[in-house]
Amino acid sequence: MTGLHKRIERLNKLIARGICLLLLIGAGCQPAPEPRAPRAAHVVSPDALVVTNGIVIDGTGAPPIQDGIVVIAENKIVAVGHAADYALPPEARVLDARGGTILPGIVNSHVHESMSPLVRQFYFLRRGVTTACDLATPLVSMKRVPVRTEYGLAARVFFSGPIINKPQGYPGTEEFLYAVNDPAQARRAVDEVVARGASMIKLALEPWNWKLPWEMASRETIPNLTLDELRAIVAQTHAHGKLVRVHLGTVEMLDLALDAGVDTIEHVPLPRLEEIEFQTDASNRDFAKLAPVYEAQLARIVQQKIVLVPTLDKIITWCEGYAVTDARKRLCRQYALTPVRRFYQMGGTIALGDDSGFETRTGMPVAEMRRLLSVGMTSLQVIQASTQTAARVCGHSDELGTLEPGKLADVIVVKGNPLNDIEAMNWISIVIVDGQVAVPFK
Ligand SMILES: [Zn+2]
Repeated sequence: MTGLHKRIERLNKLIARGICLLLLIGAGCQPAPEPRAPRAAHVVSPDALVVTNGIVIDGTGAPPIQDGIVVIAENKIVAVGHAADYALPPEARVLDARGGTILPGIVNSHVHESMSPLVRQFYFLRRGVTTACDLATPLVSMKRVPVRTEYGLAARVFFSGPIINKPQGYPGTEEFLYAVNDPAQARRAVDEVVARGASMIKLALEPWNWKLPWEMASRETIPNLTLDELRAIVAQTHAHGKLVRVHLGTVEMLDLALDAGVDTIEHVPLPRLEEIEFQTDASNRDFAKLAPVYEAQLARIVQQKIVLVPTLDKIITWCEGYAVTDARKRLCRQYALTPVRRFYQMGGTIALGDDSGFETRTGMPVAEMRRLLSVGMTSLQVIQASTQTAARVCGHSDELGTLEPGKLADVIVVKGNPLNDIEAMNWISIVIVDGQVAVPFK
């Protein structure tokens, strides 16, 4: 800088101060600010893995953080916040979200046949589902599996063990059923399944083998657990610090589940035909009116803080597959969507699970996310249902499901903003599981 330039700069500063002094007298002028220092900078460790330059949605339901940052050390999240608050050393490994959205890895809380490492890698992890919860696991398949497999990184999987039920009860097959005949046997079944590594216990209350929303010629009834057996299972499961999840496809046995004190209801307890008044009004085409007796049961689910995992897309797609007319297809939608919509309006908690596995394999469960939006949930709530709440019903919310310091580092980045368009969840650009980068591929 030349001497002349220095003098001009000094003069400019004096003028600025003089103007300011004049203004201070009349109008409360602030002195010219000093050049801006970085905001209270937290210094990031040189060996950290950092994801930044994106919107952070942390999965707790909190509003998104624009220009956010997630800092990872080894396999844990150590910080989440505004990028401006963090100073990055040149050595830090930085993954650029390129203006996309940084989220917790998605948890699909209800899937089947997910133990294979290739399924966990190609269907789940690479599509952003970092955790899958297998809800009917044969005893022979129950083994804890690492995220690093012989084929590379794969999604976590937690499992329930076989469905505990009466002999010949749902689901009727040997390998997916753990048959019990009395409360003592039921307690021992829980102990064995937990000892083999189950994260939760799965039951079924299914009175018959058919539940389409129109009258059928015949229904074959199937055996079910008694209230005493159910209560024994719930008490024993809770003694192990785990949750009881119950397949419940119709309202018929809902009261029994409520009396037993179960923790989640899987699927939708579909109302009886006489308990639902189907709408013919085109302006309200997907939502019917429910009988007060059924509404009272929904209110009881809410009051008992039971989480609903409605698996809506599976139910509706399955039902529509049997519906030969448009009217019946519409019936399928009203039958499944209306109870969930009312449950949500009453303040009930919903977790995402899509029941994929046997006939269909999904990756990112966007179809289920769309169904949850269609019952009135906000996009932020749908993401919370797919992360924090889903991890909770799988029994792992203490370590997974949100972007918070101390949680395991399962983080994804999608292009775009799913709060504006849920389809953005399909556009995966980064996947980190247990602090290791799985996408983009090395
Ligand atoms: Zn299922």
